[in-house]
Amino acid sequence: MHELAIANSIFQTVLNEVALKKLPPVTLIALRIGALSDVVPEALEFNFSIICRDSPLERAKLEIERVPLNGKCQACEHEFAVEKYVFVCPTCKSGQITVTQGEELDIAYIEVEDNVENET
Ligand SMILES: [Zn+2]
Repeated sequence: MHELAIANSIFQTVLNEVALKKLPPVTLIALRIGALSDVVPEALEFNFSIICRDSPLERAKLEIERVPLNGKCQACEHEFAVEKYVFVCPTCKSGQITVTQGEELDIAYIEVEDNVENET
């Protein structure tokens, strides 16, 4: 269950950001998750919602963008979408492939409540 570890790491990162910049409560956290990272979004959301209870992130929703797996052939430099984890160049059939995207697990951006300043 590495989703729990990932959820924890996202939580800590955003919480630090909120404390550092004195941000209002977070409403949305946008993530970019590569196909190779092997994350189950439902499990991640579930773990995250439990960790966030009674914190400034309590109402934050996760928005998960799946990043497809791409590779680049080391022999002919052809770049292509890797299907079904077959790391073979469709042009020259070389098996020397560098992953160019699909391993990311990034926080793309966060959104916070913007009506806090109106409170008197
Ligand atoms: Zn090639």
